[in-house]
Amino acid sequence: MRVYLDYNATTPVDPAVLDAMLPFLRDNFANAGSVHTPGQRARAAVDAARDSVAALIGAKPSEIVFTSGGTEADNLAIYGAVAASANPRRHVIASSIDHHAVLHTCEDLQRQGIDVTFIPAEHGPGNQGIIDPDNVRRALRPETVLITVMHANNELGTIQPIEEISRVARDAGVCFHCDAVQSAGKIPVHVDSLGVDLLSISAHKFCGPKGVGALYVRTGTSLVPRFRGGHAERDRRPGTENVPGIVGLGKAAELARLKLPEDSARIAALRDRLESALLERIPDALVNGDRTHRVPNTSNITFRGAGGEALLIALDLQGIACSTGAACSSGSTEPSHVLLAAGLSHDDARSSLRFSLGRPSTAEDVDYAIAMVPTVVERLRAISPRSTVAAAPAR
Ligand code: PLP
Repeated sequence: MRVYLDYNATTPVDPAVLDAMLPFLRDNFANAGSVHTPGQRARAAVDAARDSVAALIGAKPSEIVFTSGGTEADNLAIYGAVAASANPRRHVIASSIDHHAVLHTCEDLQRQGIDVTFIPAEHGPGNQGIIDPDNVRRALRPETVLITVMHANNELGTIQPIEEISRVARDAGVCFHCDAVQSAGKIPVHVDSLGVDLLSISAHKFCGPKGVGALYVRTGTSLVPRFRGGHAERDRRPGTENVPGIVGLGKAAELARLKLPEDSARIAALRDRLESALLERIPDALVNGDRTHRVPNTSNITFRGAGGEALLIALDLQGIACSTGAACSSGSTEPSHVLLAAGLSHDDARSSLRFSLGRPSTAEDVDYAIAMVPTVVERLRAISPRSTVAAAPAR
């Protein structure tokens, strides 16, 4: 049996998304910039996808810029907003728990001489892994040009108080970017309710294809493009449009919008069942991150004394795919920056696993994980020199 519990890393392409994409890979391969009839058909498909993405996040179609994914959308937002500022002394506020697509971009800004303040996450039981808007307010300076804070954290699932942070940004007249790559399709994302100027999404996190995403750019927000080239995406992102990918993103956005209420309730029930069963059966297991402000699909658990990497491999051998952190950091021996920022010790951070569910997840998947994970944790604890948890008798 193979059970996939790593939907925050990526999701499969929904069959309806694949069906929508195939004509643009086969017969209708035209360039959406071409004047002839096949080109116009490709353009119409790109426009329809733009409408669909805009509808998912409550934006106007003209505010959507297609990119090669979440990483490019984050880069375009951060570099583009900072470059657009006329302020000669520039300061950026970022969160310490954001994805590397944001963190490494901000660290690059620092190397260019731009000041960046990284806001720590809260550590308490009711707010672990959450950014406090007051800390964002306190970090403001007259020369602050950008605030960037993610919506849902990819490792903990914690939902950040974006509405309050955007109020801080608006009161100070500062541009606000939000990485919504892990929230779009899982919880409602509405650019006006959130109050954002820039917002990133990525198709492969909600059953669309990899390598395509979008940046929402609120009308009137100044942005310097990252790339130079032709006039695609109204000069904001040159390059021949990835028509099949964009069509796939559009279809995935439509499905996410229509299925969200049903998906999120079903997935939350499965996640909660998995989490409670693991906590009940495994001594010294702790859930990481605020459990109330959390996307419905994610559970991050520390299994003290059982190394996360060893657990990951042992579970993989039993057919269960989960994760120790961000997929792009796997193979790294460093503990997750998110778990450390949320107050975990190095040992606990190294003994944590992320289980993330998705639209295809079933009760059988969860039952299998409930049956296998406790046995594997117990076995690893029994042989781990660091384990102080008494091994329970074999079940
Ligand atoms: N932001 C977050 C929160 C993510 O989880 C990811 C992917 O894991 C990204 C950005 C990068 O998106 P992409 O894989 O589309 O480049």
